[in-house]
Amino acid sequence: MQYMNNLDTDLQQLDAILTAVKLQGADYLNHIRERSTASSAEVEVMRDLIDEGIGAVEALEQFNKRFEPIMVASSGPRYWGFVTGGTTPAAIAGDWLSTIYDQNTQSAKGNGDVSALIELETIQLLLSLFNLPKNYFGGFVTGATLSNFTCLAVARQWIGKQSGKDFAREGLSETVKVLSATPHSSAIKSLSMLGLGSGNVIQVNVLTGNREALDVTDLELKIQALNGEPFILISSAGTVNTVDFDDFEAINLLKEKYNFWWHIDAAFGGFAACSPKYNHLVKGWDNADSITVDCHKWLNVPYESAVFFVKEQHQLLQVETFQNSNAAYLGNPMENFSYLNFLPENSRRLKALPAWFTLTSYGKQGYQEIVERNVETALQFADFINENPNFELLAPVRLNTVCFSLTDESLVTTFLNKLNASGKVFMTPTFYNGKKGIRAAFVNWRTTIADVEVATATMTEILTEL
Ligand SMILES: *Cc1c(COP(=O)(O)O)cnc(C)c1O
Repeated sequence: MQYMNNLDTDLQQLDAILTAVKLQGADYLNHIRERSTASSAEVEVMRDLIDEGIGAVEALEQFNKRFEPIMVASSGPRYWGFVTGGTTPAAIAGDWLSTIYDQNTQSAKGNGDVSALIELETIQLLLSLFNLPKNYFGGFVTGATLSNFTCLAVARQWIGKQSGKDFAREGLSETVKVLSATPHSSAIKSLSMLGLGSGNVIQVNVLTGNREALDVTDLELKIQALNGEPFILISSAGTVNTVDFDDFEAINLLKEKYNFWWHIDAAFGGFAACSPKYNHLVKGWDNADSITVDCHKWLNVPYESAVFFVKEQHQLLQVETFQNSNAAYLGNPMENFSYLNFLPENSRRLKALPAWFTLTSYGKQGYQEIVERNVETALQFADFINENPNFELLAPVRLNTVCFSLTDESLVTTFLNKLNASGKVFMTPTFYNGKKGIRAAFVNWRTTIADVEVATATMTEILTEL
């Protein structure tokens, strides 16, 4: 039987299609330094699908004509907006293979599918990279938002259990107390998705002196005000504006005295663990009930990739929350193990493979080097800000992000628009300490001091145009 459509032709020229994509991809990546970091082009959106397709070769031509020129170098060395990682060569190889093998990653045995073994192994490699204990269970989700969601969902179940309730089955019957100082917006979004209420966070004070870390004394006062009621603590390993870290050793002491679920959002800050120079920032984090880490940021794998780590002792709570059947779960959740009973998605691609490839290829040393080089470039950039009287730092550089402003705050928006329009470097606006500011985050493995020089030269030039 033959298809009338282009499927037969495409099958016959599969080699040619994949080779064309490979050559184009290598060319793109080899010239990513020269590629613009911004685009203002507009495309006309097609609304109707043609009856007969055009085949993959012509589809590639159409993509190249309409969309390729407006692709920005977001995985290049001078895209410093948000917290945007790049893609290592090995990660790309792993990502391509995820697509080619197209496994639906669920179970580690049975069902004829072993791809979950790769995921379980990758979790072990990550725990090892971060020097975390092996009593965490982990898995891959699309991003730190979904990881925060997954962890906080288990936390919600834990809270119910403290008074003999099963929130997953029965629904919420009380307001859950959540404490935090500087939670990421995605943690708040998760609270709203979980029915916990984004407006229900009990605000803990931050430390004085330009800090975003929680004030442990105030935290303890707020805990005491709860009169023994169990609660969820959302703490930060790396806030987005100033990369501040809560004091995990102090939180450990509180954990001995009070009954709470301790979650750490370590989306990018967790990578401080990769370097002996910075691992003091996460000291004591290994006692948290759950930890969120993004992989598409500092691990430099393609989107969409993040992991959750939840202490194994909470596995039953996790299965109660995510089990994909209405029947009560019987027995050991690790028997007939399937990821679909542990996280939001059912069908999933083999998300772990890009991470497995990059971890296996570059090892602990590779990630130590990436982290240390990124921090070095951040400090270099901060020196420029400090030395130029037109700029001021809004916070000290604690790790990999520079949060700064113009001394004349009224010029921030114009300056940033012009800077981003240059296509040479990309940064994002922020608001910190009552001031309009700009953030430059360094998490791309390609970024060097030479890139900082390109950026600062462009900034100096734009100052003269204001
Ligand atoms: C980026 C980030 C998130 C959200 O991550 P996504 O990958 O965009 O879902 C959560 N927390 C922190 C601290 C982050 O930096």
